[in-house]
Amino acid sequence: MAPLDGNAIGGPLLELSGREMTAADGPCGQCGPVFQLAELRGYASAPGAVGRCRSRRAVVLALTSIRGQSRVRFRQFRLLDNPGAGSS
Ligand SMILES: [Zn+2]
Repeated sequence: MAPLDGNAIGGPLLELSGREMTAADGPCGQCGPVFQLAELRGYASAPGAVGRCRSRRAVVLALTSIRGQSRVRFRQFRLLDNPGAGSS
């Protein structure tokens, strides 16, 4: 099974968050490097897809689509992208 492009995850993320998320980045909680969501390796996984980190293949996000409703759950991954927030 060929991995999906990280951008395949971008569609549902856009739908959920209302903004383009593929350029959002954050550190992998398992191996450390910061990467963009577009760099994830996506794999189809019923009932949705999972996004795996490039280097260690840790699952960092799970995308589910149940009854037409998409949900994204981040695991071991925290987005750094919070435009305009200015505080940490
Ligand atoms: Zn990683």
